[in-house]
Amino acid sequence: RRAVTRASAASVADAVAHAADPLPPSDAQRLAHAHAEGAYRVLADLRAGRRSDDDVLATLEEAALRGLGGAGFPTARKWRTVRGLPGPKAVCVNADEGEPGTIKDRVWLETRPHRMLEGALVAAHVVGADLVVVYLRDEYPEAHALLAAEIDELAAHGLTEGVTVDLRRGAGAYICGEESAMIESIEGKRGWPRHRPPYVAERGLFGRPTVVNNVETLAWVPEILEKGPDWWKSQGRRGRAGLRAFSVSGRVAEPGAKVAPAGISLAELIEEHCGGMAPGHTLKAFLPGGASGGIMPASLADLPLDFGSFEPHGGFIGSAAVVVFSDADDLRVVAADLMRFMAHESCGQCTPCRVGCDKAVTLLEADRWDTDLLADLGQVMRDGSICGLGQAAPNIWQTLLRHFPEEAAR
Ligand code: SF4
Repeated sequence: RRAVTRASAASVADAVAHAADPLPPSDAQRLAHAHAEGAYRVLADLRAGRRSDDDVLATLEEAALRGLGGAGFPTARKWRTVRGLPGPKAVCVNADEGEPGTIKDRVWLETRPHRMLEGALVAAHVVGADLVVVYLRDEYPEAHALLAAEIDELAAHGLTEGVTVDLRRGAGAYICGEESAMIESIEGKRGWPRHRPPYVAERGLFGRPTVVNNVETLAWVPEILEKGPDWWKSQGRRGRAGLRAFSVSGRVAEPGAKVAPAGISLAELIEEHCGGMAPGHTLKAFLPGGASGGIMPASLADLPLDFGSFEPHGGFIGSAAVVVFSDADDLRVVAADLMRFMAHESCGQCTPCRVGCDKAVTLLEADRWDTDLLADLGQVMRDGSICGLGQAAPNIWQTLLRHFPEEAAR
């Protein structure tokens, strides 16, 4: 918590940033405090008919809010799809934050859980869902205790109003952060990703049309609806809209969850929010998006850390788990470490990923990389894997080969 920095905007971002204080503000996470700060006003307006569902959708569309769990799908478009289908419907909150290096949802949950809960109840109202399920990774016991208590408080104060809010614990599987695997897990089955179509928006939890949103996406919803799309858009840089929380770790002076403008570059993020590089370290490479977002060179540090920036270079931002490496780091060791993680977390449902991840670990641990075999393996995994884990895992070695050929060849 101490590592969270202050953001410039006087907003929920500041509230999250206050987690940097040695002790959390008294009762700041509790319903009474949240209410006093204005939480649930948007929901009250919706329920009282002072604001329409159409206005909510138009505002989120105008704000261009995108999913901050990794995929970046336009939030309003997802809600519109579910809204247009027959009920019953559900909203699932993806709080199974498992990407290596990602910590931002934990900060949101432990400091301002009611922003996310209000966002989820707003989503339920707009799409006509009577069920909200929060799927929380089990490695966050403090967040679990807090959410359980606050959801009870919500019900006791009548704020759930006909909506069942259910808190479910994950069981430590990275793949259950994939939305369809998460839904399988909630349904009591093995957490295996589903084939698409149908998409979960059409047939999700227990066959219902389902909105799945990340914690942070929902946490921004009430503030955007309160302050308007122009405020949100004005927070970004380089034409990007809004704010987002970056999880920064590695060779920086002050790692942590940093609320910063969308479109900020890595160089700016390190200088403005992380106190610069750690003493004695020079930027060499970075992961823009955790384990599968590729290994990017320092020469790309001026690109916006945002959706679309790193795809031409073989990577992606995902959930903005930014890991910073310096000259002190051996990138081949980094690549092998990341691949071991993938091999461990592959759910085993499909052969290209189950077998391919293991093969890749063996190849990356060899003294000399067999680049032809790695190229073949990468193609097979991309073409044949069911879900993003197996499809994106080859980014690890392919970006190293592309941007650091001298490292790969040694
Ligand atoms: Fe499971 Fe990997 Fe196949 Fe995804 S790609 S379904 S994680 S085996």
